Amino acid sequence: MKNKIVTISLCIFLLLLPKHLLAWNIHGEMTKIVLDSLPWINRYKDITITQYSYADSSIYNSKYRVSYLEGDIGEKTNAKTILSLYADEPDWGMDEGLSLNSAQVLTGGSQGWRHQYFLLFGGFVKLGEAPSRAVHFYNMARLAFEKHDTYWGFRFLARALHYLQDLTMPFHANPGPVFILLRNITDINGLTNMVSNHHFALEDYQEYQVRKRNLLYIKALRRAEPLKVDDVWTTGSYLANKSKDYSERLWELQTKIYGETINSRTRHKINPEKVASGELKNEYDKIIIGCLIDFSAVTKGFLNYARALFRSSN
Ligand SMILES: [Zn+2]
Repeated sequence: MKNKIVTISLCIFLLLLPKHLLAWNIHGEMTKIVLDSLPWINRYKDITITQYSYADSSIYNSKYRVSYLEGDIGEKTNAKTILSLYADEPDWGMDEGLSLNSAQVLTGGSQGWRHQYFLLFGGFVKLGEAPSRAVHFYNMARLAFEKHDTYWGFRFLARALHYLQDLTMPFHANPGPVFILLRNITDINGLTNMVSNHHFALEDYQEYQVRKRNLLYIKALRRAEPLKVDDVWTTGSYLANKSKDYSERLWELQTKIYGETINSRTRHKINPEKVASGELKNEYDKIIIGCLIDFSAVTKGFLNYARALFRSSN
């Protein structure tokens, strides 16, 4: 009975998750910084932009249209530009509004289902499929490179990278401290706002630090050693298992840093410029920088791994 109550309470909580979880702001911008320290990627240039011509077995939002941001079809681009531009692409709506799984409602909808991998109760309950989406686009990249379509090969790799990078964001592997969620379960709207406040505070702060070129953040993205990748799905699962352990501490720190208003039952937007220096900020930065090291490590490691697909295309 007790288990049943906990499960039902958890389900109610999960229904409250923000509907448009993106995980890490500015994937592309951060990917570009990471690739600045990966000189071999510059060898892959003079790549002709080609029309999309694939039968993808997955379903996508029918309103989603493939766009070409770097030029017109037939013009030239390079691997670094493709990877940097399109590491953001999966957040542009392709995964929204779909019926993928009866449990997707527990992750905030189809976008949340595809971009997250919740490991709850110590990993006993798993929700979402971000690692599988990375595998899917890795396989699409293989197909593209096999038919010598270098442009789409790299573009599919950019999409695969997005899902792996998402898994380095702690609130995408563990939405928050269960005891707080259960304690506030009677106020559904209020709890929704509380969870959103924490989620977006982390992303707004991370985006602010990267955009203002905080050297600690930039160095973390540039200098991280590549992760050893032997298998795409296992790598995604490994990242989620690692990042889930930071979410509760981040929640506590954010409550102390931004004040109790972040736990208010109305939407509260933080001002990242106003975070005061001191021990709390140091610990906050340290955890986020640790996550960005994982972001960088998997970006480099995954591209090293994927090199087997495109080495011959140069
Ligand atoms: Zn995402």
